[in-house]
Amino acid sequence: MSFLDYAPAPESTAILNLRENYGLFIGGEFVEGHGTPFSTISPATEKHIAQIANADASDVDAAVAAARRAYDRTWSRMSGSDRGKYLFRIARLVQERARELAVAESLDNGKPIKESRDVDIPLVAAWFFYYAGWADKLDYAGLGPAPRSLGVAAQVIPWNFPLLMLAWKIAPALAAGNTVVIKPAETTPLTALIFAEILQQADLPPGVVNIITGAGDTGHALVNHTDVNKVAFTGSTTVGRAIARSTAGSGKKLTLELGGKAANIVFDDAPIDQAIEGIVNGIFFNQGHVCCAGSRLLVQENIHDEVVSRLKARMSTLRVGDPLDKNTDVGAINSRAQLDRIRELSNVGVDEGAERWSPACQLPDAGFWFAPTIFTGVSTSHRIARDEIFGPVLSILTFRTPAEAIAKANNTPYGLSAGIWSDKGSRILGVADKLRAGVVWANTFNQFDPSSPFGGYKESGYGREGGRHGLAAYLESRGWTAPAVTKGARK
Ligand code: NAP
Ligand code: MG
Repeated sequence: MSFLDYAPAPESTAILNLRENYGLFIGGEFVEGHGTPFSTISPATEKHIAQIANADASDVDAAVAAARRAYDRTWSRMSGSDRGKYLFRIARLVQERARELAVAESLDNGKPIKESRDVDIPLVAAWFFYYAGWADKLDYAGLGPAPRSLGVAAQVIPWNFPLLMLAWKIAPALAAGNTVVIKPAETTPLTALIFAEILQQADLPPGVVNIITGAGDTGHALVNHTDVNKVAFTGSTTVGRAIARSTAGSGKKLTLELGGKAANIVFDDAPIDQAIEGIVNGIFFNQGHVCCAGSRLLVQENIHDEVVSRLKARMSTLRVGDPLDKNTDVGAINSRAQLDRIRELSNVGVDEGAERWSPACQLPDAGFWFAPTIFTGVSTSHRIARDEIFGPVLSILTFRTPAEAIAKANNTPYGLSAGIWSDKGSRILGVADKLRAGVVWANTFNQFDPSSPFGGYKESGYGREGGRHGLAAYLESRGWTAPAVTKGARK
């Protein structure tokens, strides 16, 4: 340890009160599953955390039946203001148990505690507070008077923001008057199960939210169940496509939040110090396990060398290691499978002729780790410029004119997010208007707010989560359609 190194500052796990075994949360109770239970581990140490029940098709049936009963008998009959009270109560309980949830999330997922503590969990509470406010105001959601709920929502979420994705799914569904069956990802079920305890504390009527754990088969059985009215999925484009095929013609309403390969565009007049922070945040936040990560850096050619050298200097200060250490910037990769994928695509980058660089950093022996990495000399045809790596790996490309930046940014099958760094407001607006991306950040990156809709174009999926738009996914519009926005239609 050199003179100026940080001393370890690990967050204590003493606040956790974990069970050894977690059942499925169906009808307001923990019940045993009929599949073979599995272990959830900490990706930073590969140590077992708890034994998790595995829902088979009969358990999925039971969960959907519980949700249907709760919909028919209580939730759909309750006034919006009463539903709102439950959501406010859940939001406050999340705040009360925030530290415990943050520690559990970092333990199970591998993300740095400063992110789970300062980003994930506060946003979870914010999402419930925000949609609690909507519950008695659905008449003003822009969907016509007294819009009707859909019924039972089947929701499947990924492992990168386990509790936050749960909040994005459950809060609007309940505010709109639907009941829910949700399946967390196999590698990150822990915070969803603590959340089930919070629902018990909040006295939420049994069956309004059911949480079933398991792997892809469980998700498959859930989204294909004949008694669900709505499917909401966040995950890979491959699985999203399969779900779109299997729900087609079933009458189920569907929203898909899939992958991305966002361009983060830096013009030569950008505030460079802020841009470097934004580039680092864009790709190394949450180990790059972010669907809207700024994984393609497009930098104006005349400042390329300066940006790369400043970026390398900044990356050399990133601390990689124990997710529970408050000084950690980059935590563990969530699973061995994801680590293998990141390694494979990075090796392809080298084989295709791009130049790879990582700062010197000591990685722990146990667990799943990948050093922050950049590739220079990347061209648009390289796989590392096209495929989603979903890890701490940045591909750097150059451009000369705004038109070239726009063409390169849009040259992707995805369209979830983008970033623009420039001193000129007119340039930011002009470029943003031409980007085919659901979210465009200007002189910032990875900002999330419950009032702001989030979602993609093209293979990034369809439908929006967040804001008033996020309610539309959980309500019938009764034939009333919002007036079309005719941007640019008139000269
Ligand atoms: P994934 O395999 O699609 O998994 C997502 C969820 O679907 C998990 O709960 C998974 O269960 C489940 N699942 C797997 N196969 C299924 C099937 N046939 N039917 C129904 N459900 C099924 O995705 P991943 O590789 O774990 O997650 C990373 C991907 O998610 C990335 O591509 C990323 O871009 C995308 N993502 C997108 C967003 C967004 O907002 N657009 C957010 C986060 C992640 P198990 O995990 O238990 O197998
Ligand atoms: Mg785990």
